[in-house]
Amino acid sequence: MVAESKYYDVLGVDSNASEAELKKAYRKLALKYHPDKNPNAGDQFKEISHAYEVLSDPEKREIYDRYGEEGLSGQGGGHGGMNAEDLFSQFFGGVGGMGGGGFFGGMGGGRRGPQGPRRGKDMMHKLKVSLEDLFCGKTSKLALQKNVLCSGCDGKGGKEGAVQTCSTCNGQGICLIVRQMGPMIQQIQQPCGNCNATGEIINEKDRCKQCKGQKIMAQRKILEVHIDPGMANGQSITFSGEGDQAPGIVPGDIIIQIDQQQHSRFVRKGDDLYYEAKIDLLTALAGGQFPIPHLNDSVLMVNVIPGEVIQPNMQKAIPHHGMPIFRHGGRGHLFITFTVEFPGQNWAVDAESLKKLESILPARREIVPPAGKSHIEEVGLANAEGYQGKAGSNVYDDDEHEGHQHGGGGVQCAQQ
Ligand SMILES: [Zn+2]
Ligand SMILES: [Zn+2]
Repeated sequence: MVAESKYYDVLGVDSNASEAELKKAYRKLALKYHPDKNPNAGDQFKEISHAYEVLSDPEKREIYDRYGEEGLSGQGGGHGGMNAEDLFSQFFGGVGGMGGGGFFGGMGGGRRGPQGPRRGKDMMHKLKVSLEDLFCGKTSKLALQKNVLCSGCDGKGGKEGAVQTCSTCNGQGICLIVRQMGPMIQQIQQPCGNCNATGEIINEKDRCKQCKGQKIMAQRKILEVHIDPGMANGQSITFSGEGDQAPGIVPGDIIIQIDQQQHSRFVRKGDDLYYEAKIDLLTALAGGQFPIPHLNDSVLMVNVIPGEVIQPNMQKAIPHHGMPIFRHGGRGHLFITFTVEFPGQNWAVDAESLKKLESILPARREIVPPAGKSHIEEVGLANAEGYQGKAGSNVYDDDEHEGHQHGGGGVQCAQQ
């Protein structure tokens, strides 16, 4: 039974939560609401930090459980407690930590500005996603390697108190070397050799066995990426605070960017899909059906109404059969561009059938001789392939075989 549950509620834990549970809850929320990452969260970060500060201290927790917030105000443990940022950087393995002399104020050293701990780099990953998966949705598992704070030492590198400020460089990690070159005195900055430029010394025997004093360890991480139906190419999914961890920094994000793969049949433009359909001449003229296998397991059986007449390159729409609209529930449209397949060269058809066609199809266009022309030359059609790119005398001569007198032919001018 606790007098008040506000602090527990803030952290989203039960009032009998273990130390580890508190820690986990704080880590998650602090990363989420840290002002660097979430500038609009207002005082949430402070509230989380304050709640954790109290509950992580067994003495303060007991007082709080018994008397509530009021009990703490007499204890100097009220709101005058630790600064949220300090708690945060301490939690995430801040420089110096509890054992040493706090933060090393000073020039050039810590990059801890007034706005709090430094933020780690975001990690970008491209995820190839098929159009089918963007249509249906999918959960992809993505394995990646990242650095995490060592669990053996909480990112401190050694036992509590074992981490000492390097006396050679005063914890700066850089030494100033003074060199005399003739009459000149030169000052050079050099990485400190005593501490390997880390600013800290950990005794060999106190060094964390797990990370060998490195504070961080590589970890394989599996991310579950939820591809929602209708997600766009280039859209990104952010895993907040999942970037590389390092002492004293706020981990950046892992950002997964969707790289939509080209599709063999559909072209996507926003929420609409474009499809090229080939239909035969009979279907184009007399109607019928043709199938479109869609991006899921269904097939659209498209009806062409008899007499509708589909012309080559004509575009038609099948409304609301395009991509799902992201988090909306509706669908884009499906646009179809037609290719009409005519009978081939060897379409065997008899004169009688052609006569029938003549009676069915619209009549031939009437030939009106162009005005101003007085000579008519009848010509045949040859296959174009044999002639392309071969303009000139040879081809021309061949063509002129048929008894035309030389020098005359197609270029002959009208005779007076
Ligand atoms: Zn360690
Ligand atoms: Zn040093």
